[in-house]
Amino acid sequence: MKVVQTIHEFKALNLPRPLGFVPTMGYLHEGHILLVKQAKAANKTVAVSIFVNPTQFGPKEDLASYPRDIPRDLAMLEKAGTDVVFIPSAAEMYPEGYDTWVEVEKLQKHLEGDSRPTHFKGVTTVVNKLFNIVMPDNAYFGQKDAQQLLVIMKMVKDLNMNLQVIACPTVREPDGLAMSSRNTYLTPEQRQAAPVLRKSLMLAKEMYDKGERDADKIRAAMIALLKTEPQGQIDYVSIADTGTLNELKIIKGQALVSLAVKIGKPRLIDNIILG
Ligand code: AMP
Repeated sequence: MKVVQTIHEFKALNLPRPLGFVPTMGYLHEGHILLVKQAKAANKTVAVSIFVNPTQFGPKEDLASYPRDIPRDLAMLEKAGTDVVFIPSAAEMYPEGYDTWVEVEKLQKHLEGDSRPTHFKGVTTVVNKLFNIVMPDNAYFGQKDAQQLLVIMKMVKDLNMNLQVIACPTVREPDGLAMSSRNTYLTPEQRQAAPVLRKSLMLAKEMYDKGERDADKIRAAMIALLKTEPQGQIDYVSIADTGTLNELKIIKGQALVSLAVKIGKPRLIDNIILG
């Protein structure tokens, strides 16, 4: 496994194709490794990036404290069969005078965008830069970050990018909590409370499966369940159209049920698709 730190070095690699690419912010877990394995199964070469992208963090967010452990990440990536790991510095990606941004205007505004107004501008810009550096045939993203996945698919389509975006299912802990690098912030007590996100999603699915199509009723039931957990502070509970992310009143076709809840300091997100 090769480890590369500069853009110049990466571009000089001339990797065998098809090339699968998994962008990450590191502090890897089995969710990331699933993406690597899916890339491995469908490509000749697998490249993974580890970059804690400063431009996608708001001024009051956890950029400085975001967990990092490069030696552990490299060991996990090597075991999963990664060929190349790209670990640029912030100065390598954003040299002095950097001034170009990519935005998906409407889709970036809902859900996560309401609480984190500059987040997706940072995500789409860095993913665009990484695509230009790595030039993958296939890029792998997790359904865990459902809005991110939609925003990136839209960017790839609108800008006629020459690659496929492949969505991978959410990997969970045995008690249903979606794996996340940020789970490491949870105290033991908060960790016990955290599966309430998944429980409220499963309640939505149960109501839907029994025939409920009134989104307000499902939202209200989810909120009531979340409120039984005193450690949780709800940011949003959304039942939205999977294409536009507009909130639904009645569920007709598919619906993205998603939520963000603060459990102590960490803000956790999760989602499922109904229909
Ligand atoms: P991150 O390092 O958190 O920026 O995530 C990098 C990629 O891994 C993104 O495409 C995420 O959606 C994906 N990912 C994060 N957590 C999970 C998970 N629990 N299951 C599957 N994919 C995930």
